[in-house]
Amino acid sequence: MSLNLIDIESFRTRIERKSTNSKGEFIAYWMTNAQRVDCNYTLERALKFAHKERLPLKIFFIYNPGHYKTLERHHCFMLHGLLEVNDLLKKYNHSFHFFSYKDNLLKEILDRCNHLFIDLPYTERARAHLKKELIGLDMNIYSVDNLYLPLTLISKKQEFSAATLRKKYYKILDNTLIGQDFSVLEYISKVDSFIKNTDSRNQICSEIDKLNIDNLIDKNYLIRSGPITAQNVIDDFLDNSLDNYQENSNNPEFIKNSTISRYLHYGHISSAKIITKLIENNLKIDHPFIEQLLIRRELAYNFTYYNKNYNNSESLPNWAIKTLNEHNYDKREYLYTLKDFEFAKTHDVYWNSAQHQLLTSGYIHGYMRMYWGKKILEWTSNYKEAIKIALYLNNKYQLDGRNPNSYVGILWCFGLHDRAWKERKVFGKIRYMNENGLRRKFDINRYVEKVSKNNLF
Ligand SMILES: Cc1cc2nc3c(=O)[nH]c(=O)nc-3n(C[C@H](O)[C@H](O)[C@H](O)COP(=O)(O)OP(=O)(O)OC[C@H]3O[C@@H](n4cnc5c(N)ncnc54)[C@H](O)[C@@H]3O)c2cc1C
Repeated sequence: MSLNLIDIESFRTRIERKSTNSKGEFIAYWMTNAQRVDCNYTLERALKFAHKERLPLKIFFIYNPGHYKTLERHHCFMLHGLLEVNDLLKKYNHSFHFFSYKDNLLKEILDRCNHLFIDLPYTERARAHLKKELIGLDMNIYSVDNLYLPLTLISKKQEFSAATLRKKYYKILDNTLIGQDFSVLEYISKVDSFIKNTDSRNQICSEIDKLNIDNLIDKNYLIRSGPITAQNVIDDFLDNSLDNYQENSNNPEFIKNSTISRYLHYGHISSAKIITKLIENNLKIDHPFIEQLLIRRELAYNFTYYNKNYNNSESLPNWAIKTLNEHNYDKREYLYTLKDFEFAKTHDVYWNSAQHQLLTSGYIHGYMRMYWGKKILEWTSNYKEAIKIALYLNNKYQLDGRNPNSYVGILWCFGLHDRAWKERKVFGKIRYMNENGLRRKFDINRYVEKVSKNNLF
């Protein structure tokens, strides 16, 4: 089956709520997970609609400083990105409205508008939050899916594994990636901004000033944020490391993978844009980088979208729950508390290095993330507690945390999207990893040395 852009469009924008009351002073876009101007499908849809209706567009972001209290490094990264969004919009003569949640302005804004565009929320938690905020509002609400292909087009249910999802992509794309058309810039200058002069930049800076960021992390990582930086990061990767991605990306001794996940998480860059660029380089759908950026990533979104238990063990496959329960009371050789894990106080120098990398840079190399998660299972008194600890640490410290990939990455360590392996203590039939594997695959001691000198990343 081959696909054209009209087919895609009918799945990309969804009418969440319909109202007969169509009068309003402006069209609104509430930006949440697509914090960018370029290649932002939601912004593009909102602009086209505003242009058609001959109404101005109000683009706003509502910041909740009290949300996720322990995560000030994330707030810092995000707020620096929003400064860039603000400046980019200004360049096109549009203003960006940045409100604090405490201002309670949402209802006031939306009372004057009848068409609201939102970024499609991909988790139950995000959906519930939006639902609560928009309760009782008589207006038209449209959600827009910013994945490469809209997830409801690809699959109407939770996919069992990468293999089942991959098959659907391959079938629908006829083994050929399709380029995508972004017309944001074409419309942006044709639509007026609602209020020209706002002091959003000052407001964002004043929120940054209030942050009390943990002193574990080098602050330089946090200000390297935003759509322009994201573009530079991906361009550098495509120019210098893509050709050897397959050989190098599983070696944590040096960073030869893209490191784009934190920017994707905040929506600073569009995966569809990166994939469209790769098509120009004649990459095929089965290229290993496309496998990660498209299949693995969109599998994670498929999972959190369709499974309400995306953040706990209830969503594991039956075989995994059975085997983990059977081995839940096996004696563990080492047992650690959350604090031991958090401050890298285990007996294992490799694990501690991964945790140290996380604390100091908000990132762990992909291969070491697997080892990191597997060992938390091995050294915690029971698997449900292990999932909680892994999620807590991942989401507190990884700059790409709280993403669909976070939940799927961690639950993968407990059997999600995987198959049964040879049975052993504690793990049961869950895939096992040990330090011999690290020694065999690369020079793990060099990794340890580099992390200890903060020499990675
Ligand atoms: C225990 C554990 C926790 C993880 N936590 C997170 C997390 O919090 N946030 C996060 O974005 N990813 C997470 N991952 C998935 C993966 O490790 C990271 O996406 C990847 O390492 C990010 O580095 P990169 O951008 O350099 O990846 P690259 O190798 O350059 O890949 C490019 C992009 O492809 C996607 N991708 C790569 N590997 C995977 C994967 N296994 N599953 C899904 N998508 C993938 C990501 O969007 C990534 O940015 C986790 C994996 C594990 C095993």
